[in-house]
Amino acid sequence: MEKILYRSTNRSSKEVEFKEAVLKGQAPDYGLYMPTFIPEIKRDEIDSFSLKEYYEIAFSVLIKFLKNEIPEDILMGIVKKAYNFPVPLQKIKEGLYILYLDRGPTASFKDFAARFMAGIMDYFAKKEEINLTVLVATSGDTGGAIANAFYEKENVKVVILFPKDEITDIQRKQMTTLNKNIIPIGVKGKFDDCQNLVKRAFNDPELKNLNLTSANSINISRLLPQSVYYFYAFSRLNNENISFSVPSGNFGNLMGGVIAKKMGLPIEKFIVAVNENDEFPKFLETGDYLPIIPSKRCNSNAMNVGHPSNLARLIDLYGGWLYDERDEKGRVIKYGVLKIKPEMEKLKKDFISFSIRDEEVCGIIKKYYEEYKVLLDPHGAVGIGAYEKSGIKNQVISIETAHPGKFQEVIKDVVGFEPEIPETLKEIINKEEKYFEIENKYEEFKEFLKGIK
Ligand SMILES: *Cc1c(COP(=O)(O)O)cnc(C)c1O
Repeated sequence: MEKILYRSTNRSSKEVEFKEAVLKGQAPDYGLYMPTFIPEIKRDEIDSFSLKEYYEIAFSVLIKFLKNEIPEDILMGIVKKAYNFPVPLQKIKEGLYILYLDRGPTASFKDFAARFMAGIMDYFAKKEEINLTVLVATSGDTGGAIANAFYEKENVKVVILFPKDEITDIQRKQMTTLNKNIIPIGVKGKFDDCQNLVKRAFNDPELKNLNLTSANSINISRLLPQSVYYFYAFSRLNNENISFSVPSGNFGNLMGGVIAKKMGLPIEKFIVAVNENDEFPKFLETGDYLPIIPSKRCNSNAMNVGHPSNLARLIDLYGGWLYDERDEKGRVIKYGVLKIKPEMEKLKKDFISFSIRDEEVCGIIKKYYEEYKVLLDPHGAVGIGAYEKSGIKNQVISIETAHPGKFQEVIKDVVGFEPEIPETLKEIINKEEKYFEIENKYEEFKEFLKGIK
């Protein structure tokens, strides 16, 4: 079999092997890595998935990409350990199903990507006999999923920066109650400040010996495992004409589905469900891309993204070229330049997109609780809201990306009671917290990193 290499969407960095794409995260030309070709899964193999467990399907899908990169038994071990929780698919009514991706240890769909990535990085670190330092900035959910996934991985330390006063208690405790190789830092600043500190550290030659690597959402090892649950859901219905409604922020979830479709999964349409950050539905309608910066704050807070990082990959797959224009120091001078337009007709055939306002989200949560006894979280409710607007009558699978128990206030306001907190989160509530605090100053952060043992 021909080897799959990874090329940059910005077209000037050289092609690299999977391992390098994983350890680098972003390409040197600031583009996102894409596979040079997408392997195919034949229909009879897809049909055989109906008798397989989730982790077995994960193995069958991912081995198509990783055949020459990771021994089969190691890959099987990684997916078996990563996917040890249920993935329910529930029929809500004729034509509508919900796929629950909120049953992992941190109760958000980020677990699917983070747990696979941790397995992969741990394997590469051990194989190369190096110690990796994963740096990640989080606005809330990602940090918890990454911390949990990398906990006790021997050759990897994880440094997580979070805006000290801008995350919820539960979100913070998901990072600060683990200790060992997980090092949380509360920054006296905003999420963007955390992200800037991390970016500067990556480009700092004095920190080279730390083997810094990134766990942010553009890493190819976070993207590939997100194609698996599309195969899984399809195999549980085994019906033609299935569409997916995907609550979307940075479009990583959506890109997972697009890869599954390109591999041969017969997905009819993607309903791209967004909150009030509606740059994508407007783009589909007009062909003009206008990122929303800064993004709008909505109750589905993990989707408060006005310039989705994975959109560059989607546009690339449909023949276009989207990038951020930078000066010679790498600073962005213009966001979201559409240098080459993608094939709009093809895009419109495969995607429809709707923006759901916060009041609509509340209305959906109330309606689905009252009519179907289903308690949605605000992100999942955006997915259902977009499904309703789409008018699609064939089978639609709407993805639930977080557990409602993580959004006590919004949900209590709507249905009048506090939703149950998932067991895995209850455990951490009374645990002792430990974390460092720094000012929003790069020199202070750098000294801290140098002192890590
Ligand atoms: C991250 C996240 C999303 C958005 O997923 P993207 O891959 O960024 O589009 C949706 N819901 C929840 C709960 C999330 O944590």
